[in-house]
Amino acid sequence: PAEAVPQAPEDALFGLMRAYKADESPSKVDLGIGAYRGDDAKPWVLPVVKKADEILRNDPNLNHEYLPIAGLASFTSKACELLLGPSSPAISEKRVTSVQTISGTGAVHLGALFLARFFKVNGANRTVYLSNPTWANHNQIFENVGIPVATYPYFDKKTKGLDIEGMKRALVDAPDHSIILLHACAHNPTGVDPTPEQWREIAEVMATKKHFPFFDTAYQGFASGDLDRDATAIRYFVEKGFELVIAQSFAKNFGLYGERAGCFHFLASPSPDAAGITTRVASQLAILQRSEISNPPIYGAKIASTVLNDKALFAEWQDNLRTMSGRIIDMRKALRSKLEELGTPGTWNHITDQIGMFSFTGLSEKQVLRLRDEFHVYMTKNGRISMAGLNTRNVDYFAKAVDKVVRA
Ligand code: PMP
Repeated sequence: PAEAVPQAPEDALFGLMRAYKADESPSKVDLGIGAYRGDDAKPWVLPVVKKADEILRNDPNLNHEYLPIAGLASFTSKACELLLGPSSPAISEKRVTSVQTISGTGAVHLGALFLARFFKVNGANRTVYLSNPTWANHNQIFENVGIPVATYPYFDKKTKGLDIEGMKRALVDAPDHSIILLHACAHNPTGVDPTPEQWREIAEVMATKKHFPFFDTAYQGFASGDLDRDATAIRYFVEKGFELVIAQSFAKNFGLYGERAGCFHFLASPSPDAAGITTRVASQLAILQRSEISNPPIYGAKIASTVLNDKALFAEWQDNLRTMSGRIIDMRKALRSKLEELGTPGTWNHITDQIGMFSFTGLSEKQVLRLRDEFHVYMTKNGRISMAGLNTRNVDYFAKAVDKVVRA
């Protein structure tokens, strides 16, 4: 039967990474994958992660035993506090249950699997609404578990900002009790987030329609450099009493990409049975987790836990986050001002208006391909650039290349 297996296309982003590696040009620029790079274009191991690593390695009790099914409790409890705030009533009322996952991808998957199993309406799966555009993997993760996927308008090509009216209209038109996937901050791929007022409007529509919020947070601390501020949207929905889930990644904010440290959280709305619901949900998540991965990987969780549970290390982490987000902001300013100095046709304010790791440049697929072929610049076909791929040595080169392809 394997003869009938068709060839699948290569993953676009990882294909791009491969093409970049194979390119021998000394001026090549990698603006593809969303991984932080220092000004030297190299991966940056956060100094606080190096410290935590030292602490772990020097611990005579370090071993490689299995974690419990739900993961490292000292990690998941702090991960939850990071999202909701340490004094959140949801925590003291035992309305949250947290499961350590294979980074953010695993968290989205576990959440999708859980909803496919337990959130049916009249025997049918509810539809999940994804922003248009969204992180490409969202589509296949939900499809893989049989949840139908639809989209809501998000990015306004004209303003290069949020299409709030289109989004709200789609939320109103969606059947009641739909699942709405929301990027908590630093929207991937657009770098466009709702304002606090727009979040309030979104929450209001969703409450009226009894929609179910599915938050994906992969960039806390990366958007503004402030962990609390980047959790504002989630905390607002929690305050409003929504039942919701959160998929949380520590890949970017700890630079633990390959260690796969993440968490899935279920939060019950306030009710007399909330703690009971949460306990029952936890029991089902444990069964799903057991059959999928048995138990999550230990090392990244230990690193994060070491930092999250130590005041001084936590403060240092915040400092490291400001270093990363600060450098990205500097590159946004440098790119915009270079394009404006060159008089590149179009407006470029969106480069500095957008936030987080990515910028949605507005470049067309044709322009993107020319940038790759003629200038050895690698970015996704939708015109997204990973800001962290720019540095003081290549930002002018990139701006000049953009200028050329936009003009011709
Ligand atoms: N969600 C979004 C929106 C992302 O951008 C990412 C990272 N690209 C993830 C989830 C998950 O990434 P990871 O599995 O590496 O934590």
